[in-house]
This record gives sequence, C-alpha cells and structure tokens, in this order.
Amino acid sequence: MSTTTTSGRVAVITGASSGIGAATARALAADGHRVALLARRADRIQALAAELGDVALAVEADVTARRSLTAAAEQVADRLGGADILVNNAGMMLLGPFGSEQHADYAPMLQTNLLGAITTTEVFLDQLRDGGGDLVNLSSVAGRTARPGNAVYAASKWGMNGWSESLRQELGPDIRVIVIEPGAVATELTDHITHADTKAGAEKLYEQTAIPAEEIAAVIAFAVSRPRSVSLNEILIRPTVQTG
Ligand code: NDP
Repeated sequence: MSTTTTSGRVAVITGASSGIGAATARALAADGHRVALLARRADRIQALAAELGDVALAVEADVTARRSLTAAAEQVADRLGGADILVNNAGMMLLGPFGSEQHADYAPMLQTNLLGAITTTEVFLDQLRDGGGDLVNLSSVAGRTARPGNAVYAASKWGMNGWSESLRQELGPDIRVIVIEPGAVATELTDHITHADTKAGAEKLYEQTAIPAEEIAAVIAFAVSRPRSVSLNEILIRPTVQTG
C-alpha cells in the first residue's frame, strides 16, 4: 500500500454532469488530480471537461448499464492509466408517499443509487486495488435517519451504508472506504421528484436550508487528501439550520 498522499491521482466521478459530482470534479482537479467525468448527459460533461482542460476526460456512461460501465473503465485505463479514486455520486431522490401511485419511482432509484454504485465499484475494483485506492460513496442524512415520505430513497441510502461498512472491512487497507452523508444541498436533485406536493415541499425546504455543492466537494477533497494511515470513514454534513 502506498504511504504517500494524494495529488496527481486519477478520480472517476459518477454523476459529474451537475450538483455535487460537478463540484467534486472541480475541487479534485484544483487539487492536482486528473478526473474522469461520467454521466448520461454528454453535453454537460463535455462542457465541464472543456472548462477543466487536459486533466479531464468526459465519458458518457449510465450506471444502470454494466456494459456502459465496462466501456468507461476501459477508456479510463487506456486514457488515464486507471482509477485511484472512485466517487459513487450518481443518484436520484424521488420522494413521495409510499404506495402503488409512486411505484414507477422505486426501481430506477434503487438501480441508480444502490445497484449503480455496486456495479460501478465492481467494474473499477481492480483499478482501485492497484496502488492504494479510495472509494467515496455518496449516502445521505437519509442513510442514517428515515422519515415518512422518503422510504425507498432511505432504503437506497441505508443500503449504501451497510454495503460500505462491509467493504471497509473487506477491502482495507488497500482501499479506503469513505461514506459522505449530506443534508440539504442546492443541486438539481429535487427537480426530478414526480409527486407534485412532495416536490413543492422539498423545494421550499431546500430554498430555506440548502448549502452549496462546493461545501460537500471540499469535504470529499479533504478526505481523499489524508495520509494513507488515516481513514475518514463516515462524514455527516448538515446545513447548520437543518434540524432533522
Ligand atoms: P443532481 O441531480 O444535481 O445530480 C445527480 C447526478 O446523477 C447527475 O449528474 C446525473 O447525471 C447523475 N445520474 C443520475 N442517474 C444516472 C445514471 N443512471 N447514470 C449515470 N449518472 C446518473 O443531484 P446531487 O448532486 O444532489 O446528487 C448527487 C448525490 O448526492 C446523489 O447520490 C444524492 O442522493 C446525494 N445527496 C444529495 C443531497 C442533496 O440535498 N442534494 C443530500 C444527500 C445526498 P445525468 O442525468 O447526466 O446522467
């Protein structure tokens, strides 16, 4: 295991086309890392790659499609020499009352938030193992608490936490596992909620409480910059005004 830190590594970031993923790409590039930007919206990641310059590679990828991820991993190996850091950030938060009216939300949310992260990690695992890797998993306050109206989203994030804790023990010390648990962050996350009343309520709450994505990105950049002897395994980051 390498004992050195930290700049000049290769970071793969899923969901790099907006919000926390895009902010994390900017923060890691500013710290001297090369970044592979994965998302489905090619125009967004290409624009971000153009902004960041030679250190960035845009790779159109869907975390729910394993073939898309294996193709992405090949590109990262060929163009950047393999991944040292994987940020499993792609996700959706389709809040709403539990029941058949909302059934169409459940499979995509679990396939993206939980199975997507699992598949991405499995596909990039050999690259991460090669020389001391970091696995950063975006969970949520909803991975530690549950409340009415977020049952399946909470299930995806509680699942993320249980899976991450198992991997922490299984993959260490070669790979550090770092779970990030944000509260409300101002991104596009609430845009996709399909239940109208829940969407309006979430947008109002976010207007009042949300912190910028750059604050989460700064914490991720700090966590991966620690010496290899130090692991920040679980980091809960609430807006100061957020009580629940
Ligand atoms: P955004 O909606 O801004 O970003 C979500 C990202 O996920 C987009 O880049 C989107 O890219 C990507 N994505 C969604 N589905 C797929 C897919 N199938 N394949 C590849 N990429 C996909 O929201 P945030 O930045 O807020 O969300 C990032 C993570 O942070 C999520 O896991 C979320 O649960 C978590 N989080 C966010 C909080 C918040 O308050 N904002 C709080 C706690 C956790 P594209 O559509 O281009 O594919």
